[in-house]
Amino acid sequence: MAESLSLLSDASKRLEKAIKYVAISDDATERLKYPKTSLSVSIPVRMDNGSLRIFQGYRVRYDDTRGPGKGGVRYHPNVNMDEVQSLAFWMTFKCALLNLPFGGAKGGITLNPKELSKQELERLSRGYIEAIADFIGPDIDILAPDVYTNEMIMGWMMDQYSIIQRKISPGVVTGKPITMGGSQGRNTATGTGAFFILEAMLCKFDLDPANTSIAVQGLGNAGMVIAELLYKAGYKIVAVSDSQGGIYNEKGLDLPKIIQHKLENRADTVGAASPSAGMYCKDTVCDLEENLSITNEELLALEVDVLVPAALENQITEANAANVKAKYIFEVANGPITSAADAVLDSKGIYVFPDILVNAGGVTVSYFEWVQNRSGLYWNLTEVNEHLKQKMVIEADEVWKTAEEFAVPLRTAAYIHALNRLGEALDAKGTRDYYLNHH
Ligand code: NAD
Repeated sequence: MAESLSLLSDASKRLEKAIKYVAISDDATERLKYPKTSLSVSIPVRMDNGSLRIFQGYRVRYDDTRGPGKGGVRYHPNVNMDEVQSLAFWMTFKCALLNLPFGGAKGGITLNPKELSKQELERLSRGYIEAIADFIGPDIDILAPDVYTNEMIMGWMMDQYSIIQRKISPGVVTGKPITMGGSQGRNTATGTGAFFILEAMLCKFDLDPANTSIAVQGLGNAGMVIAELLYKAGYKIVAVSDSQGGIYNEKGLDLPKIIQHKLENRADTVGAASPSAGMYCKDTVCDLEENLSITNEELLALEVDVLVPAALENQITEANAANVKAKYIFEVANGPITSAADAVLDSKGIYVFPDILVNAGGVTVSYFEWVQNRSGLYWNLTEVNEHLKQKMVIEADEVWKTAEEFAVPLRTAAYIHALNRLGEALDAKGTRDYYLNHH
């Protein structure tokens, strides 16, 4: 694979596995090796003490054959061009997999957002839009929240873009506050979408919820939503964790009490950009002492039916994959399993439902937000969730069928399914074969 894919070493390995099952032209494969456009900007920001600080920002549109670019903006000290390009590449596949009329994009600024005041964050966010305004737009490239960015920041970004354009342009950013054109259900979309997929897929195995034990790693934004929906649907949540550690109760945890405890003790960090910032520094699930305390490592190795990693990347690696005893894994986090661990889990016959499918509820409701902004007609929560369920279940079934047809793991099937759509779109714009045959 080409140079640009070497940065996605793990992702590209997975793609290579899928390519041989897809009737994709060489032209299309070649095009997918390179990000279409990569912009790097310097953003001057007046700090509260009067000094000037220059921040480094990025926006990458990896591919826009299927529609305008779509992808979040990350504020993190580790953000760099390589990372943004890789994330834009993932988005290209996620949007194609869900059949959203979008290409893949991503952006970011290199900083520790917790060191900035709220005012400094606002000046930085508006400065970022000033710097990339010619590069984005509702029909060009649409932004969204990602790590350490939230709806308040999306609101500033949409407002700044509208000021530059001298017209209200809500469709340039999704994940906005509801009052600025945000969608109902956007905050809970990732966990809700993952729940729809889990229910639809577990049906195929004829499991009884009351006797299906589930462990959720990472009771954050996404993890908390799916855990709560599973609990309400009658599944037995036996373990949950956060960055401080986990708790286990083989008879099933009292999840509403745990969630209440976490929410009540959530510290509100004013300057912090993340809705969850300050949430996990103190008052963790481990405080609930009637349950057995376990480490995150122990949680991953529990004898449960279903494991839901919803925390961070690289949690199940070659080193600990052999210890995993769950029968089904639903990747709510991005990249919680390394490609080396994939092979180990496969050999143990574990079904791994991949991140680009399971956590795509967020981008799907972002798409609904964009549709609502453009039509001017706003949906209620029931309508949003009905559309979400329909879309997620249709694509999950397609991935399932592809896995059966080619006898490949579900992850490879997801890539095959997305690649078919990308290949078709790229070929529709004209391929070498087409021109050779039409002289
Ligand atoms: P979050 O910050 O709200 O939650 C993360 C949770 O993981 C917190 O409970 C934190 O305490 C916990 N955690 C941190 N380190 C841990 C560790 N070592 N072991 C166990 N738990 C740990 O983040 P989120 O928005 O819920 O995102 C979680 C994952 O889901 C990320 O991989 C993210 O990329 C992915 N994701 C989220 C969304 C979304 O809309 N929120 C969309 C797509 C993908």
